[in-house]
Amino acid sequence: MARIVIIGGGLAAESAARTLRKEGYDGVVTVVTDEPHAPYQRPPLSKGYLRGTEGVDAVVLHPAEWYDEQRVEVRTSTAATALDPAAHRVELADGSSLAYDSALLATGSSPRRLPIAGHDLPGVRTLRRLDDSDALRAELSGGGRRLVVIGAGWIGMEVAATARTLGNEVTVLARGAVPLAAAVGPRMGEVFRRLHLDHGVGLRTSVQVERIAGDERAEGVVVNGETVPADLVLIGVGAVPNTGLAGAAGLDVDDGVLTDAALRTSAPDVFAAGDVANAFHPVIRRRSRSEHWDNARKGGPVAARGMLGIDAAHDGIPYFYTDQFDLGMELSGYPPLMAEAELVIRGDLDAREFIAFWIAAGRVVGGMNVNVWKVNKTVQSLIRSAATVDTAALADPETPLESLLS
Ligand SMILES: Cc1cc2nc3c(=O)[nH]c(=O)nc-3n(C[C@H](O)[C@H](O)[C@H](O)COP(=O)(O)OP(=O)(O)OC[C@H]3O[C@@H](n4cnc5c(N)ncnc54)[C@H](O)[C@@H]3O)c2cc1C
Repeated sequence: MARIVIIGGGLAAESAARTLRKEGYDGVVTVVTDEPHAPYQRPPLSKGYLRGTEGVDAVVLHPAEWYDEQRVEVRTSTAATALDPAAHRVELADGSSLAYDSALLATGSSPRRLPIAGHDLPGVRTLRRLDDSDALRAELSGGGRRLVVIGAGWIGMEVAATARTLGNEVTVLARGAVPLAAAVGPRMGEVFRRLHLDHGVGLRTSVQVERIAGDERAEGVVVNGETVPADLVLIGVGAVPNTGLAGAAGLDVDDGVLTDAALRTSAPDVFAAGDVANAFHPVIRRRSRSEHWDNARKGGPVAARGMLGIDAAHDGIPYFYTDQFDLGMELSGYPPLMAEAELVIRGDLDAREFIAFWIAAGRVVGGMNVNVWKVNKTVQSLIRSAATVDTAALADPETPLESLLS
C-alpha cells in the first residue's frame, strides 16, 4: 500500500500531512513524533501560554478527531532511529519499521547546549517543548522569583518579558553589546534593549558567562567574576537543527539538511522542511535555513506537493513575529541581504511605533513593522518588486506605502 512517512511532530509535519489530504492523496499518512503529543506549534510557549493568558488550545493544531477524519496516523512517543533511503524504510525506537514511498524529515531543532559548569543543575532550563513551558510556568506564574536568562535572542527576550510581566525579577545576560543584534542589527536591537529596561528587566550586555553556581540547585550565574543570584536559570543560546537521522543516512548535511527549492534532499524520495531544512532559495539564489513558524507552515505544504509530483517551490520571503511587553512586531526580509543593508525609518522610533526598512542597492530587502499593523503584506510586495525606491518617500509617513509600489 502507498505510504508517506513524516518524521517530526511540529508545524512542518502537520502542514505537510494536511496538504497531502487537501491535494487528494489517498495512501497511508503516518506521522512519527518522539513527543507524547500530536503535532503542535511553539510560539505561544514563550508568550501567552507561558503567561497563562492562552490555554493549550492556542498550542495544539487540531483536536484528536481531526486525525481520524483525515486518516492521519500519529505515532506519539516514538522516535525514528534510522532512515534507510535505499530500502525506503524508517526504523522506529519500538523496534518496528515503516516502509515508505516518500518520507519527510521535519525533525526541527533543539536548544543549543551551553557546556559550562552547572548547566545540568536542577533549576536550569531550556525552552523548546510544551512540557518545558509547563515546567517554567509552574515556577514563574506566582511571581517573586529571580530568573536569570542566559542569551538575548528571541526566546530569551520573550521569556524575560513574560516572566517580568508575571512579577518576577529578571536579569538577561548578553554576550553582545545589544540584544538581538544578530537578528535585526544593533540599531533595532537597541529598541528592544530600551523596551526591556523600561519594564524593569536587568540587562547585562557584553558579559561572558563563566558558570552556573549552586550545589543541589542553581543559585546564581557567575559572569565576569561576579555572581548574579538566581532561583531559576533559562539557557537561551540558540538552536541547532536535528540532522542526526539525515547525517547517519548519508544525506548531504551542512547546518541543516540540504535541499533544493522544492525541498528535495540528496536522497531519492526524501524531503526536508521546517527548521531542519537548509533550502536553496530561488530568489536570492543561495541556501538559507530559517527557524521561524512561517517557514514551517509554508515548507510542509511545498514538500507535500513535491512528494505527490506537483511542481512547487519554497520561494517565500522569510517572515517572523514577536510580542514582548506592549511591543508587537512583524519582520519580513532576506537575512543574508539585510546584513549589509542600510536602515530607513518611517515613524517614531522613541514611541516604538514605526516601520524600519532595510535598503540594499536602492531596493527594499527587509521590513519590520513595530506596533504598526496591516502593513506587512505591502512590505512584502515592496521586497518582492525588487524595484529601486525613493527612500525619502519611504521615510515619510504621509506618503502611502502602496504608492511606492511600481
Ligand atoms: C518557545 C518558542 C517560541 C517561538 N516563537 C516564535 C515566534 O514568535 N515566531 C516565529 O516565527 N517562530 C517562533 N518559534 C520558532 C518556531 O516555533 C519553529 O520555527 C517551528 O517550531 C519549526 O517547526 P518544525 O516543524 O520545523 O520543527 P519543531 O516544531 O521543532 O518540531 C520538530 C518535531 O520533531 C520531533 N523529532 C525530532 N527528531 C525526531 C525523531 N528522530 N523521531 C521522531 N520525532 C522527532 C521533535 O521532538 C519535535 O516534536 C518559536 C520557537 C520556540 C521553541
